[in-house]
Amino acid sequence: MQSGSYIDGKWFQPKSERVVKNINPADTKDVIAEFPMATAADTERAIDAARQAFAGWKKTPGPERGRVLWRAADIARQRVDEIARLMTREEGKIFREARGEVMKGISLMEYYAGAGFRMGGKTFPSEVRDTFTYTIRQPVGVVGLISPWNFPWAIPVWKSAPALVAGNAVVFKPASLTPATAAVLAEIYEEAGLPPGVFNLVIGSGSEVGEVMVSSPHIPIISFTGSNEIGRALHIKAASRGAKVTCEMGGKNAVIVMADADLEKAAVAIRDGAFGSTGQRCTATSRVIAAEPVKAELVERLAAFAKGIKVGSGLDESVDMGPAVDESQFNTNLEYIEMAKSEGAKLVTGGGKPEGLPDGYFVEPTIFDDVKPEMRIFQEEVFGPVLSVATANNLEEALEVANSVEFGLTTSIFTQDINHVMKFIDEVETGMVHINEPTIGGEAQLPFGGVKSTGVGDREMSEEGLHFFTELKTVFINYSGESGRAMIR
Ligand code: NAP
Ligand code: MG
Repeated sequence: MQSGSYIDGKWFQPKSERVVKNINPADTKDVIAEFPMATAADTERAIDAARQAFAGWKKTPGPERGRVLWRAADIARQRVDEIARLMTREEGKIFREARGEVMKGISLMEYYAGAGFRMGGKTFPSEVRDTFTYTIRQPVGVVGLISPWNFPWAIPVWKSAPALVAGNAVVFKPASLTPATAAVLAEIYEEAGLPPGVFNLVIGSGSEVGEVMVSSPHIPIISFTGSNEIGRALHIKAASRGAKVTCEMGGKNAVIVMADADLEKAAVAIRDGAFGSTGQRCTATSRVIAAEPVKAELVERLAAFAKGIKVGSGLDESVDMGPAVDESQFNTNLEYIEMAKSEGAKLVTGGGKPEGLPDGYFVEPTIFDDVKPEMRIFQEEVFGPVLSVATANNLEEALEVANSVEFGLTTSIFTQDINHVMKFIDEVETGMVHINEPTIGGEAQLPFGGVKSTGVGDREMSEEGLHFFTELKTVFINYSGESGRAMIR
């Protein structure tokens, strides 16, 4: 594995005083690698390299661009376990989840590889005689991709694959916490035959590398996934210079459990949504809104599940849940737990650091009951294994409580009643909805993203995710052969 940045087709070690120490959050004595941080000047060089490479890549036929992604998918498939193990060491999620994430990235590469054959526009009838009107989709230029640590492989793939197949050149800045998985992606693109400069990986801080990207007049598109705090400021800055921006940000996703729900199915889905990936998914379940008659039994089942979760290093196959990603997230989780207690929520299970795991940032799977919708634990994103349960008397009330937060990524309902299902789909304020399944998950061919404070700009993945990285050109061809005829449109 490389431990530098990759600019203009070359790996190099930035000459920088600052180094990212890439630490295993399950065992802080395990240092995976040290990455020297790239500087503002390195970032400018990456942007220049991308600008140079763009001209040639734009002219490369779409199917040929797609074939590079196809080869990348093949190479990744041969390295699945190795990439997954590295991701587990670097990010902390358990090996099974890491493997699933690698496979999802491969699906995305395959999906967008095929898109190389479909980079078409539409034809339309013109109002004017002997005139052919149609659209074409063209790449935009150099795109800036900035990603978080929680899906260190899938998110970089779901941003870079559509950007590349559309014919753009890429400058990519991964989260400082997960540079190693990002480096593997660059290695794979290189081996797959991407020409030098088309994909540039710049490992460095958000405040230096990220800022240069966001302010650069040579980057007309920025695609960001991360926190609201960073995303909102970035959006304003990039938009103020006329860039096109998409930001996918926080979530506070709810599961509504109606009185007629299959409680076992609901409890399993909530467990997987709340504690899977240590609650560090943007689509994680952090709220349950349960009908009064079934709430007590549901909480009992959830508590039993939570107590049964084995916490530890994700490299141990018997472990169900890994650590928080770093000390800061660990402290955030504990602070929110204390806050929930002081707000008057009832701690059902968990609430602290598990015993016997001194060297990692582990937090127990935690459940609060009797949570009121106005409490901060119910309103704010924790990004850890902390679940809040509230009550609702009917669907209208459940929807009101579900919609009371500023975020809008995903919601799920458990019910057998088709009228409830349809009303829920109509009224719930999230970009994705699930019926009788967990809040988590996405597929390459399906639009992914949220509304309200969660998302700005186009959906990612799917055709929408591809279109974001293109500009439409509308073409008018007059073949009347006549001159001097006035044309009014
Ligand atoms: P973050 O702190 O906002 O960081 C995201 C990225 O932005 C990192 O690469 C970071 O670099 C970079 N950055 C920081 N400051 C910057 C600046 N001034 N200019 C440009 N870039 C800058 O988010 P995170 O902690 O990595 O990820 C967790 C968050 O992501 C959660 O809120 C979660 O909900 C959200 N998320 C959302 C989705 C979704 O699709 N809605 C998916 C996954 C995660 P450094 O690492 O170097 O600071
Ligand atoms: Mg952060």
